[in-house]
Amino acid sequence: MPASEFSLIDRYFAAHGLRRPDVALGIGDDCALLISPVDQQLVVTMDTLVADVHFFAAADPEGLGHKALAVNLSDLAAMGAVPAWATLALTLPRADEDWLDRFCRGLFALADRYGVQLVGGDTTHGPTTVITLQAHGFIPPGLALRRDGAKPGDGIYVTGTPGDAGLALAAAFGKVTVTPEYRDDVRQRLERPEPRITQGLTLRGVASAAIDVSDGLAQDLGHILERSRVGARLEVDRLPLSPALTASLDRDAAIVTALASGDDYELCFTVPPERAAQLEAAAAGWECRCTGIGVITDEPGLQLVRADGSPFPLERLGYDHFG
Ligand code: ADP
Ligand code: MG
Repeated sequence: MPASEFSLIDRYFAAHGLRRPDVALGIGDDCALLISPVDQQLVVTMDTLVADVHFFAAADPEGLGHKALAVNLSDLAAMGAVPAWATLALTLPRADEDWLDRFCRGLFALADRYGVQLVGGDTTHGPTTVITLQAHGFIPPGLALRRDGAKPGDGIYVTGTPGDAGLALAAAFGKVTVTPEYRDDVRQRLERPEPRITQGLTLRGVASAAIDVSDGLAQDLGHILERSRVGARLEVDRLPLSPALTASLDRDAAIVTALASGDDYELCFTVPPERAAQLEAAAAGWECRCTGIGVITDEPGLQLVRADGSPFPLERLGYDHFG
């Protein structure tokens, strides 16, 4: 969109008000000039949302603006980082001003809440909408919550109520009926995930490993297990199932959804037993639930068990783009 590319950038991206003191030069030049704190590590992540793969082409643009940033902030949260800056690459089939206006509303509302400044990007024309956002944050050296720190005996925890976004997606495809009282709620969970930034920050020095759940709890916990070279015993009856999930599905199907559907953007993390009390104190101040769901073992693999100790069968661990 060469004719209007620059006016679009000016109108929608450069005009926004938030100005951080560590941005020496923001949108408008060939590059942004950013001032990293000398005593911290820069934490960088990127996520792409592709029309008809990650969202319906007709999806509410305000929700997309929110989600494009939220999924990246969720990665920063999973490292325990404080968010700071973002860059945005947008590929659009046409310059639809109403779409851009609403997209920016969702994006900047979330960015402002976490003090994130959009400092640059690229805007191009292409056959389908592709939204790629990169987020930058900071963390003191040695404090990042990595995937490789879990040890046998550590407790396994999850924030919020995983499975709600998966339920909303299943409902959108007509596979499940969600009762009207929960419909808005679960759609919010799919379209407006809340990045667990506060939770990640309070887990610094408490959690031994962490990951954000984007492709299914079982699959993402599996990444911690692989990186940490450990196994896990997960008690499916301890999973925090939302009222919407239990009202919409029978118990086993609700458990499968909580374990293996994507888009939750909750945190799954491990805590050594000697720091369990610290976690309890920290989690008391969270606006979301924090639930212990199992324990790290030295036997490789993920073992799913019911309360009576019998195995819980799960065919598919989560979402895989190429699986
Ligand atoms: P260049 O051609 O030098 O890469 P562009 O013309 O693509 O520069 O962009 C001009 C300015 O607008 C740059 O500062 C760039 O970072 C910013 N920009 C372009 N697209 C976006 C976008 N979608 N979001 C935020 N900033 C953008
Ligand atoms: Mg360009």
